Amino acid sequence: MRITHLTATPYRVPRRSVMTSALGEQHWSEYGLVRLGLEDGTEGIGEISLIWHGDGARLCTLVDDLVAPVVVGADVFEYTRIVGAVRRAFEFGRHSQTAVAAVEMAVLDAQGKLLGRPVVDLLGGRSLDRVRLSMSLSIAAARECVREAAGYVDAGFTAVKVKAHRDADHLVATVAALRKEFGDDLGIRVDLNMACVTAKEAVRTIRRLEGYDVLSVEQPLHPDDHDGLALVRERTDAPVMVDESVWTPEDARAVLARGAADFINVYVAESGGIRPARLIAEMAALHHVGIAIGSMPETGAGTSAAAHLAFSLPRLEHPSDVAGWLYHADDVVSTDLEIADGHLLPPTRPGLGIDVDEERLERHAI
Ligand SMILES: [Mg+2]
Repeated sequence: MRITHLTATPYRVPRRSVMTSALGEQHWSEYGLVRLGLEDGTEGIGEISLIWHGDGARLCTLVDDLVAPVVVGADVFEYTRIVGAVRRAFEFGRHSQTAVAAVEMAVLDAQGKLLGRPVVDLLGGRSLDRVRLSMSLSIAAARECVREAAGYVDAGFTAVKVKAHRDADHLVATVAALRKEFGDDLGIRVDLNMACVTAKEAVRTIRRLEGYDVLSVEQPLHPDDHDGLALVRERTDAPVMVDESVWTPEDARAVLARGAADFINVYVAESGGIRPARLIAEMAALHHVGIAIGSMPETGAGTSAAAHLAFSLPRLEHPSDVAGWLYHADDVVSTDLEIADGHLLPPTRPGLGIDVDEERLERHAI
């Protein structure tokens, strides 16, 4: 079945509440919706999710200018040729992985719709029955973090992520307050977002968290500091998760070879698509390293792609960020994603299980 057109529409949707992280304040997400049309009218959908400075939206013109000419005319089942051509068109930069991922999602969505099967069935079939979710807390005073976490706990969530930036005292106080308020049942993750300059500083900070039973400490050091990360793993008890260190399977190879992580936070957007993300998960498993699934956060289409990946995995013990749409006040698609007791339930509709909402897309288009 031939691809007849490929377009990308930039859109901006407001956040449900302002998110403060190491990146600053996020009031909205500016992403791109990729639509890949087939000769029988079937349409595949993908999302360009990239949080920094509206870059997701900006990549849309490159999809129109560079990618459409190399994709239109191909058979949608020629995955390897199509995705290879898209990668070559986008060879100039790391951020463009997110646009490659959006086209890859759209190809798999279209394939699934043609076959009448959910995308998870193209990845080996559904292996998990539910996926434990984690929700990220905005940087704030400890009591504000407790208040935000209480909302998630009341809604049934069982894991939260504390975002930290530079101030170790504040981080330790926040984790202590969460543990005191919610007891041992709440899973607490910590994301340092590269806040520590040296491995010794990271070791000092992480040792102060010992006794609070955190699930993982994410990216304490610069992405390239694999030796430092390996040292932190050796000198502390908390499992070390890398995030910024790993975008692509090539990045994962370097981290795994150096023994620099206990967990890798894998993003569909950063790795260049659902299948490259799954490849990272498989590489990690060969090294006895776990994964979590990360989020920009995506809106509905991107979250659905992450969900199909998640349910295809043989194991996913660490809570994951597959609930990006919950951080947004609106969306440009509808999905079949459902949550029960803080866990994501399996998507079942053909393809990625999403429908473009034309009226809302028009309202939010930039
Ligand atoms: Mg992170």
